[in-house]
Formats: sequence, C-alpha cells, structure tokens
Amino acid sequence: MPLHTLIVDFNSYFASVEQQERPELRGRPVAIVPVMTERTSCIAASLDAKRHGVKTGTPVAEARQMCPGLVVIEARSELYVQYHHRLVAMIERCVPVTEVLSIDEVRCDLPGDFSRREKAQAIAQQIKRTITHEAGPCLTSSIGIAPNAFLAKVASDLVKPDGLVLFDDPDLPGCLYELSLRDLPGIGHNMEQRLLAAGFDSVEKLCAASRADLRRIWGGIEGERFYDGLHGAVVYRPATQTGSTIGHSHVLPPDMRNESSALATLHRLLQKAAMRLRHSASYAGGLHLSLRYVGRDRWSDALTFLETQDTRELIRVFNQLWDRRPTSARAQPIGVGVTLFHLSPAHNHTATLFETGDARTGLNAAIDRLNRKLGKNTVVYGGALGALHYAPIRIAFNRIPDVALEGGETDDELLATPADIQNARSSRTSRASLKSPRRQAGVF
Ligand SMILES: [Mg+2]
Repeated sequence: MPLHTLIVDFNSYFASVEQQERPELRGRPVAIVPVMTERTSCIAASLDAKRHGVKTGTPVAEARQMCPGLVVIEARSELYVQYHHRLVAMIERCVPVTEVLSIDEVRCDLPGDFSRREKAQAIAQQIKRTITHEAGPCLTSSIGIAPNAFLAKVASDLVKPDGLVLFDDPDLPGCLYELSLRDLPGIGHNMEQRLLAAGFDSVEKLCAASRADLRRIWGGIEGERFYDGLHGAVVYRPATQTGSTIGHSHVLPPDMRNESSALATLHRLLQKAAMRLRHSASYAGGLHLSLRYVGRDRWSDALTFLETQDTRELIRVFNQLWDRRPTSARAQPIGVGVTLFHLSPAHNHTATLFETGDARTGLNAAIDRLNRKLGKNTVVYGGALGALHYAPIRIAFNRIPDVALEGGETDDELLATPADIQNARSSRTSRASLKSPRRQAGVF
C-alpha cells in the first residue's frame, strides 16, 4: 500500500503557544482556562502539567492540588488562531494541506513521489524543522504517516511530544496489536462494550474480524468504514449535495481595491483551488464567485458544468462569471472569493466527450509538480500575475473556532453557502444567455 496520508498534530497546542510567547513559562506546568475563575476547567495543559495528571477537562481547583506551582492562564484565542494560520502556511510550503481537522491538527494527502517511505519521512522532518526555525522551539508536533487517514491519526497519537511514526506495509497490522481498543478513532466506551460482548477484546482480534462482523457490531455502514480504515483502504466519503467544497477568499489591501487587482487575485486563488482539487483526487462540477464592495455590498454568482479538474476549463467558466459582475463606477471591490463545489472523487469520474484529454492532464500535472518542487507560484497562468505577493493562501476555516478574530486576511462570507450552490445554474444554458442583453446585477 502506498503511503497516502500525513497528519500533523501539535502537542499541547494552546499551552505551547503561550510558552513560545512567554519564555518565563517554559519548562513550567501551565494550564489554560477559558475565563479566570476557580470554578472553570482547563481547556489545555502543558507537558509538565500533563505529567502531574492535569488534562483537558480537569477542574482548576483539582488541577492546582494535583500540580503544585501550576501557572493558570486565561486563553488568548486570537493569538492561537494567528499561530494556526502561520503554522498551516509553513506546512503548506512543505506539502499541500488537504484538510484542517482542528485548530492544532491538519491532514495532508501525499501526492505522487511523496508517498515513498523515505520521501514521506523527509517531508515530516522538513515540517518539524521549518516550524522550529520559523515559529519557535516550543511548537512541537507529533506526525503520523500511513496508507490512510485513519491509520495516520493512530500513528500521530502514538508518540508525544515530538513524535514521528510511520505505519507501512511490513509493520501492519502487527504494529497496532499493542494498542487498546479505545486508542482507535471511533471506539468510545459504548463501542468498546459492544466489541467486548462480541468477543473482540483486543486490537489483534479486531484486525482479524471480517467486514461483515464489523458491519453487524456497528449496526451499519460505519462498521464497514471502520474496517476499511483499519485495513489501510483510502476511503472517500461520498460528496453530499452541499457538503464538500474547496474555497479561498481574500480581503484586498487598500492599494489593491481595484478591478484589475481583484481579477488577478481571483485568478491566483482559483489556480490554487484547482491544484488542491487535483491533490485531493477530486473533480469539481460547480464554481462560485463572490465579490464584496466598499459599503459591504456583496455580489455573487455561480455556474455548474461538466465535472473537471483542469485549470484552463475552470478559468473559462470563471471568465463567464467575472463578465457578469456589477461594473458601475461605485463598485470598488474590497474582498474576493472563489469556491469549487459539486466535488466528486476521481474514482467516480466518468470520462466524457468534452474531456480535455491527456495533453491537458499532463500539463496540469507538470505545473503542479513544478510548484511543489520549486515553491508555489513558480508556474502560474498569466491571469494571476500582479497578485502573487498579495494573495496568501489560506484554507477554509469552518472548523477553526473564533475565526472572526482572524481579521483582515480572509472573509468566510465570500465562500459559497449551501443556498448559493443550490441556486447555481448550468454554464451551458448561461452561455446562450450571455448573448442576450446583459442583465442587471440583481444581488448587488
Ligand atoms: Mg494536539
């Protein structure tokens, strides 16, 4: 099985950020609380506090008893979100980030060459080095590498702090046998009881269970998904109608609040989204464009089309949408966003008559490879020129708490909502409508 997934999990994240910012806290037991009162519970604990048994959920009064000298600090969410974005950007320079799992955990699917054992290990080391040099030595992480996300998660939980664990063919499934059932994602107290009742009292026995056994114990398809996860299969969750999207938004700095800079920024964001689409082995069947204007007015429109992962085809659809924007003199753009939707996994994709063919696929792959190898923006389509220094790429933040605190850089409201996706029309019908007199921009 090729190594498909790398998961980075930051150790004692909130406490580590505080120790990085405040050197006097390093090496001391630290607990983070949401508000400064003795009646609350810890939301995070530093390594030294954990050694005394303090963990997330421990009441403060109890924590002080367990751990004399405990330093209790009120959480600074804004700071943790800022660090999060910086850390994700640092990882992104080593390997494309596929999904942000939480504020202190990201998943990266390993493209092409990166899925070889030595290369995957080298990337993990590079991520750790980059973070130590650029964010600081307190921000340690545990990295897990495995044939799928389920096993990578298990691997990342195995050694803390500062772990690097790789599960590969020769080690699987034996390397899992010493774990307890509860160490596996998806097994909580209740599921453990059901497994014990069915005679599966060890991970070794669980690994020997059949798919049908697990379906029966879980009572449905989740059991089969667990089976696939445990056995290293790469499981693609079926895309729901409004579920998965890939989107980027950006608030324009004052000197770029004009149409040409907005256009260049959008091209850059679109090309980045297309690269992520290909890295996640998906196709998109919809594109949503959103603009915010001075005065807070938002305009957006969306089109659907035959599913593709080709940048040039996406640019073609994008240009159709761009032509529909309001262009009155007062329409000064202040924020831009693009979202790809109607995503479906490559293995569900059926080639069509309109497919662009091998040459275009090869071109996209070559551009992605150059950008991975030599740094992003090494090769871009011309439309993005003029925005390369201004469009830092961020991923969607819907799982990051307190995103409003992030300020300035991105704007979630510029990404497609389920309603936007539902209202999207086909690009093929719209091609005809472009010939008719230009409609007034209704939403504006
Ligand atoms: Mg963590």
